[in-house]
Amino acid sequence: MKKLALLALTLLLLGPSTILLGVATLGGTPATATVCTPGALALGPIPDSLTASTRTGETVTLNRQQLTHAATIITIGGQTAGVSREGVIIALMAALTESTLRMLANTSAYPESAEYPNDGDGSDHDSLGLFQMRPASGWGTVAELMDPTYQARAFYGGESGPNYPSPRGLLNIPGWQQMDPGEAAQAVEVSAYPDRYQNYQPVAEAILTALTRPAPSGNGGGDETPVVPETTRIVFPLPEGTWVRTSPFGWRDDPITGERRFHAGSDFAAADGTPIYAVADGVVVQAGYTDAGGGVIVIEHTVHGEPVASMYVHMWSHGIHVTEGDTVTAGQHIGDVGSSGHSTGPHLHLQIHPGGANADPVDADAWLTDHGAEGITGGDTTPALCTAGGGA
Ligand SMILES: [Zn+2]
Repeated sequence: MKKLALLALTLLLLGPSTILLGVATLGGTPATATVCTPGALALGPIPDSLTASTRTGETVTLNRQQLTHAATIITIGGQTAGVSREGVIIALMAALTESTLRMLANTSAYPESAEYPNDGDGSDHDSLGLFQMRPASGWGTVAELMDPTYQARAFYGGESGPNYPSPRGLLNIPGWQQMDPGEAAQAVEVSAYPDRYQNYQPVAEAILTALTRPAPSGNGGGDETPVVPETTRIVFPLPEGTWVRTSPFGWRDDPITGERRFHAGSDFAAADGTPIYAVADGVVVQAGYTDAGGGVIVIEHTVHGEPVASMYVHMWSHGIHVTEGDTVTAGQHIGDVGSSGHSTGPHLHLQIHPGGANADPVDADAWLTDHGAEGITGGDTTPALCTAGGGA
């Protein structure tokens, strides 16, 4: 909270154009930590549609689904050190040009790509998704590239990018800040047609203006509750193959006290240090650690237009990688499995509260199944060698 107050203060002292630079030069930020940029790239509500004109005067109308993908590109840009507002514009120009901001499957090259959420079928080489990245060129696996968050991270690149050092993302292009935005987009996409990207620059700028809130004016303000955009997907909170179910939602004899008590969460045992993923896009409303209660993260989401909160419990204090106010994406690594608080062994206790954090929990495991939660393999996964049945 101190960190947030400090950032808010920094926002008041610096003009909007210097905010990102300020955040970026905090430097030494571990790759896993998210950099919160309140005001600078804070998302507002996503409109149902947006119409803008290209440089050559064609009208482009984008729907809510396309704008939701734009929101993902903006969020990841805000979380990636070194990507300025200009970098986000370049990414939006690239995705507009390559896919018109659609997550395209490619069933002729990869029939299995249709099994992931998508907005249609493309057929250019073996290109996939928003940025039309090709598995054959080393951009990632089909599973990785059918994830809009992964595509955005790969596009921005940099040392914390998933493909560092090759294929190059925007941050790996020397002098990209001095290049024409269309040429910078072309340098990442390795396309022969820079003009195509330049044509979309006014559309990209219109999207960024429409989707983000103006930076705080300096007369207070700036402490508004972030809007929680509709999530692009629902994922399982632990990597595939690392966990086992140990204690379900419902009445049980408490494994520590022996008392008959209601268990408000679902327990998934996994090795200490196994990454925990956010189940959906959202905003962190609580992230903290106490010796008595252990680690707790609470995230607010919007799912089918309704608020939903997810709660993650038992991380150690060093296993909490988000801060109150952070915007996170589905599948983002937010913490690590621990065994703090009321716990008999390393596990994740997950609660889901439809209606928001103050509403009653439902069976989290069943909720994930009902919402078609994707399993994710996770790139930085430590396999669970010991899942000796932690619970509580
Ligand atoms: Zn539990």
